[in-house]
Amino acid sequence: MTRQYDLQVHTDASPCSSTPAKRVVAAATAAGLDGIVVTDHDTVANVAAVRELAPATVDVVSGVEVTTTQGHLLALGVEDAPPMADPLDVIDWVHDHGGVAVLSHPFDTLRQWYDTDLPAIARAVDAVEGINSRCVLPQFNRRARSFAVAHGLPTTGGSDAHFPMEVGRAYTEVEGEGGLLDAIRRGDVRPAGRGGYLSGHAATKAHQFRTALSR
Ligand SMILES: [Zn+2]
Ligand SMILES: [Zn+2]
Repeated sequence: MTRQYDLQVHTDASPCSSTPAKRVVAAATAAGLDGIVVTDHDTVANVAAVRELAPATVDVVSGVEVTTTQGHLLALGVEDAPPMADPLDVIDWVHDHGGVAVLSHPFDTLRQWYDTDLPAIARAVDAVEGINSRCVLPQFNRRARSFAVAHGLPTTGGSDAHFPMEVGRAYTEVEGEGGLLDAIRRGDVRPAGRGGYLSGHAATKAHQFRTALSR
């Protein structure tokens, strides 16, 4: 049976999101997802809260969206936040801690992206995010997918939700038995859902504006 996991979901433990754990769980349930990975920026602070609130039908996997010295990296299945370091060092750290490392929106040149050590990074990572709902230009996701194909890497999908209505806009279809991490290692995953999404960014700007006004 195919299961649907949103591999990149932010909560209010990320500075750019104001979605509390409770609303993330409600959104994941409403979207009919089988699971989510909580991937706040450089922290696992809200993972326990999301796990506690989630119904048995929604699998909650611990994760972090790591700020490396190049682009962002999804550390999936880690219970602590990896160091903010060179991507190759972060990938090693993730593997040493039993996790899976996925390049997050790796060629989105309007955000953080990767441009050096690409062959070494391709050899080290487990997968590449092939659909990220918050890439403004479809070419950013296309380039990520062709990079994955060129290096024989699996691709995943995630909404990169910063607001409840974004949860599940993109997701990962997981095939086979067992847990999410093993499915990614086997390559039994594929991205699905929507790339290219402008209004999420507009909502982030509005949130930043409101935050600035309230200071
Ligand atoms: Zn990111
Ligand atoms: Zn993100």
